[in-house]
Amino acid sequence: MSATTVAPDTIKAPPLEKQTTVGNYFVSNYPPFSFWKPEFVPEVCSAMERPLSTINHQPSTPLGIYVHIPFCRKRCHFCYFKVYTDKDSSEIKAYIDAALAELALYTSKPFIGGRKPKFIYFGGGTPSYLSVDQLKHLTGGMKSLLPWDEAEEVTFECEPGTLADHKLKAIRDMGVTRLSLGVENFDDHILEINGRAHHSKEIARAYAFAREIGFPQINIDLIAGMVEETEVNWRECVRKTIELSPDSVTVYEMEIPYNTTIYQRMKAEGKLVAPVADWDTKRAWVNYAFTELEKAGYKVASAYTAVKNKAKTKFVYRDKLWEGADLLSVGVASFGYIGGVHYQNHADFDPYVAQIQQGKLPIYRALTPNDDERLIREFILQLKLGHLSLTYFRNKFGIDPVKRFAEPLQRLKDWGFLTIEGDQVLLNREGLLQVDRLLHEFFLPQHRTARYT
Ligand code: SF4
Repeated sequence: MSATTVAPDTIKAPPLEKQTTVGNYFVSNYPPFSFWKPEFVPEVCSAMERPLSTINHQPSTPLGIYVHIPFCRKRCHFCYFKVYTDKDSSEIKAYIDAALAELALYTSKPFIGGRKPKFIYFGGGTPSYLSVDQLKHLTGGMKSLLPWDEAEEVTFECEPGTLADHKLKAIRDMGVTRLSLGVENFDDHILEINGRAHHSKEIARAYAFAREIGFPQINIDLIAGMVEETEVNWRECVRKTIELSPDSVTVYEMEIPYNTTIYQRMKAEGKLVAPVADWDTKRAWVNYAFTELEKAGYKVASAYTAVKNKAKTKFVYRDKLWEGADLLSVGVASFGYIGGVHYQNHADFDPYVAQIQQGKLPIYRALTPNDDERLIREFILQLKLGHLSLTYFRNKFGIDPVKRFAEPLQRLKDWGFLTIEGDQVLLNREGLLQVDRLLHEFFLPQHRTARYT
């Protein structure tokens, strides 16, 4: 990230919403999900039948796997994912069998082209909710379908309270390279009133044992602006994080999407503003975390991440996805990308399992972006790193991004967030801290549905 300064008289403040109201803030993909449709599902099915040969889809296109585990001990009040807290072991077994059967359906398709996964990601939900036997069954089955010997990274999301020592050992033994600990906060009262299932003691225990058994990378997730968060407590969270000395720290700003318990309560009480810190405060808290982490030797590596050793600590999943890799995604509600086509599975447990039991892919909706949309997708996702290479885009897309994005680039320059230095487009810290709302400037007009949060 650049610390480039801009002359104050060139800065025009962009529209800023102060309060945290309902809605999604985080931009995770492009075009927006509301443009993905069931009628486009045949397009992803066709993409799977094509051998690797087209310009954008060659044998060198990396392949990754995402597995969604939709189970949690409790539903957090800020959660907007599809999660189940009431499934018994036979239902979980049926789910794992369905996920493996789904993977098997993909592995027979021409688009695989002999590739093995370069990265694997277990997300959720709570992957660590699974028992050791369930995990062995799942990962053993996956490896027999698509071996992991070329995997550069295997990421596993965990809830600290689910991590008994023997389970952590099993997770390490199955080949996980990055353990991502959903700490979110270190204060028991804040964890409790936000509906988290774990307690602070469990964080310390799980972290210590994970370190002892040698995970190559341990990441700690924090959320700035949980209900009842205070400046004093946030500083303490940052201090405790640095004391643990994880390899990387991910900090998200609290958002309140429609399908959260917090929003349901707001609606019932007729409130428009969420009972959490406003955006300026949350950005200031993330900035505080980044600044303290930098003092402790970390480097800010994206809008959400600081890493201790930039040369050693990679985010293969993130970087390959943001460069257009194939993502073979299995599990309920999971999102994938194959041969330039986006897709998402059925979002409910029963139709998902039923489709698989009938031998069908459980895809619910899809979208084939055109070349310009693919360019926008990669450009905005890579901008979240705080820097991107113009040459990469010229070589890959055969266009000059400075011309294609002349207007939004100029706007972000005028606002004092962005500079272009040689081959690099650079965001300064202020721009990086609010990158998700700035990315809408690069969207096509028809996609600017939720312009600012
Ligand atoms: S642990 Fe994560 S996925 Fe599960 S309920 Fe909480 S926020 Fe949602």
